[in-house]
Amino acid sequence: ITFASLQLAAPLQRALADKAYTHPSPIQAQAIPLLLDGRDVIGIAQTGTGKTAAFALPMLHRLSTQPKPIVARQPRALILTPTRELAAQIAENIALYGRYLQLRHTVIFGGVGEQPQIRQLAAGVDIVVATPGRLLDLMEQRCLALDRVEFFVLDEADRMLDMGFAPSVKRVLAKLPARRQSLLFSATMPETIRSLASAFLRDPVRVEV
Ligand code: AMP
Repeated sequence: ITFASLQLAAPLQRALADKAYTHPSPIQAQAIPLLLDGRDVIGIAQTGTGKTAAFALPMLHRLSTQPKPIVARQPRALILTPTRELAAQIAENIALYGRYLQLRHTVIFGGVGEQPQIRQLAAGVDIVVATPGRLLDLMEQRCLALDRVEFFVLDEADRMLDMGFAPSVKRVLAKLPARRQSLLFSATMPETIRSLASAFLRDPVRVEV
């Protein structure tokens, strides 16, 4: 199986060609067709397996091929991840794969000033990559709303819970619209993650590498 056979939008195929990525990794080969088909997915995969592209490519494909709402540019995709390093890495990947698309993304995390992040949100973004604490702060300040989110990713769910983010994650989940596609990625699948998964995924397909 090659990337060409996955039927990704031409601008994405061009970005992959720039990187000389020809073959999807196993997690990508399993997850991308399901996600392009609109399914919810549980991915059991560690960093290093190519899991970022496994969700970023189908997310970018769907956002670029589905008509966007004419109203104010509220985020259409949200990726929640536990640390600022991971958030920055995911944003870098989105910039890379999305380089030939007109989609705007921003990254939100704590430990730095809020104002630049608030300004980016005010300018309008399609994709937000965030850690939970700062995201909730900015939501409370009405800097963004989640009711236009079509595509939601909970990345590194096990680490998220280990770091004590369960209450924050649940508060974010409560603000998402019912009609959306959702994904959960985790390196491990203990009972706590299984019950979290069943709380927000709809008929998920499980993929494992
Ligand atoms: P990740 O697990 O998402 O952190 O990705 C691990 C590394 O593999 C990153 O440096 C990616 O840029 C790279 N990568 C992801 N997918 C592919 C692919 N299909 N072919 C070659 N390299 C890839």
